[in-house]
Amino acid sequence: MLLTNGRIYTLDAAGSVVDTLVVRNGRVAFAGRRRDVNPAPREEVVDLEGRAVLPGLVDAHGHLMHLARVRLTLDLRGLDSEEAIARRVAERAAAAPPGEWIGGRNWDQNLWPGARFPSRASLDRAAPDHPVALVRIDGHATWVNSAALRAAGIERATADPAGGRIARDARGEPTGLLIDAAQRLLQGVEPRPTDAQFDRAVRECLADCLAAGLTGIHEMGAELYALASYRRLLERGEFPFHNYVAVAARSRSTWEHYRERGPEALGDGRVTIGAVKLMADGALGSRGAALHDDYCDDPGNRGLVLLPAEEIERLTLEAAARGFQVCVHAIGDRANTLALDAFERALARAPRPDHRWRVEHAQILADADLPRFARLGVLPSMQATHCTSDMAWAAERLGPERLRGAYAWRSLLATGVVIAGGSDFPVESPNPFHGIHAAVTRRPRSNEDRGWQPGQRMTRAEAVRSFTTWNAYASHQEADLGSLEVGKRADAVVLSEDVFACDEARIPDIRPVLTLLGGEVVYRAR
Ligand SMILES: [Zn+2]
Repeated sequence: MLLTNGRIYTLDAAGSVVDTLVVRNGRVAFAGRRRDVNPAPREEVVDLEGRAVLPGLVDAHGHLMHLARVRLTLDLRGLDSEEAIARRVAERAAAAPPGEWIGGRNWDQNLWPGARFPSRASLDRAAPDHPVALVRIDGHATWVNSAALRAAGIERATADPAGGRIARDARGEPTGLLIDAAQRLLQGVEPRPTDAQFDRAVRECLADCLAAGLTGIHEMGAELYALASYRRLLERGEFPFHNYVAVAARSRSTWEHYRERGPEALGDGRVTIGAVKLMADGALGSRGAALHDDYCDDPGNRGLVLLPAEEIERLTLEAAARGFQVCVHAIGDRANTLALDAFERALARAPRPDHRWRVEHAQILADADLPRFARLGVLPSMQATHCTSDMAWAAERLGPERLRGAYAWRSLLATGVVIAGGSDFPVESPNPFHGIHAAVTRRPRSNEDRGWQPGQRMTRAEAVRSFTTWNAYASHQEADLGSLEVGKRADAVVLSEDVFACDEARIPDIRPVLTLLGGEVVYRAR
């Protein structure tokens, strides 16, 4: 295939822009000027009509497994009160046989009047005969009704598990909110979807990702059942996507399997299982992010540490010895200190050049920790849309002092690191142009705000690289992915508008016209 008459941003080291690309055997065979190349016999010629072309965009922190699960449950995103959600649950309950579980995701009490956490009472009225489990938008809290508490055997006498909390009322009765590790009390009780249901949901999610311009993700925490589905889809030729997988260490069976097996590539590298994901703390929205000092809006609370530094160090050494990259979720400043301490000690014990270990989120950083990323060779993997989603309330949680190190992209780039860019979908939308817009403007997509901490913005070139070349580096895949250079896989996206030239307020509206994966057309706008 010869694609010509485009504005093709190759994103090679020099930032070359060319008008013509030739794809052979799934890889880029030529990137340059039309007059320097002739189509081979029977080669398809595509006129790009002057459009901008980028290398396929990659989301460095997405949850395909969870996105597929969300498709099979109620999506509560944006609902603006506890009652509105209870009504949706009541509708579902009316159509489901008694006893069937009702699952849901993406509620956010910060959108509700008073921003108070919900309780089981409203769900008990809506669905007395169905266990209900609704996961908060950040995945760090689950809101359940009394039937679900009963099914999981959670009662007044149940102790809080390590790293988790069962919210209770003044009399000590569970209120129906399970925070962080307490959510695991539902594991094995709440039924999983069937293989056929899950495969279909994954296929639909991949179609959505391709339509948004993504040709790949780094999946931060997949479990065996999801990997089994990807394997089935690959065998059927129904996985047109690149997925670099970090297996979830908190799923014991998954980590035990891969610790024995080591890294694995499936389907000509479409799915590469190359990393392990550890969780150091919770999230800011549910006040589970581990802070050095108290939450400003919750005195006495410093969040939750899910894995102590010694355990992160032990798992890091174990995973690295088996050839896995290590990615640690750390949101609060204390969790980031712990993760960096653990990495530093692990490297002192077993030095490892070019390890590219990652801190996922790196959201709130103490001043002293900022330069440690570059010094240790650790990459921050960050989600620009978290900044624009959290800016309305982050200051209440953190106060002005700590905000200086929050979502501090410019401060980190200044130390010489690159930032892997992602969305954390389904927490945010998988649309990478939302992320690029947030990185460039630090404004909500309505563009009404003047921009939060504008000194921390990225340039457009940095923001686009944080979804392409920098992500290829962050997954050790820069020989294959990230830029449109000869020899690399021909993953590319033809855009409705030029992301480098359009008005910045329009970036979130950019749509792919054509998406190529390994030179094959995997999406075409109607
Ligand atoms: Zn995540």
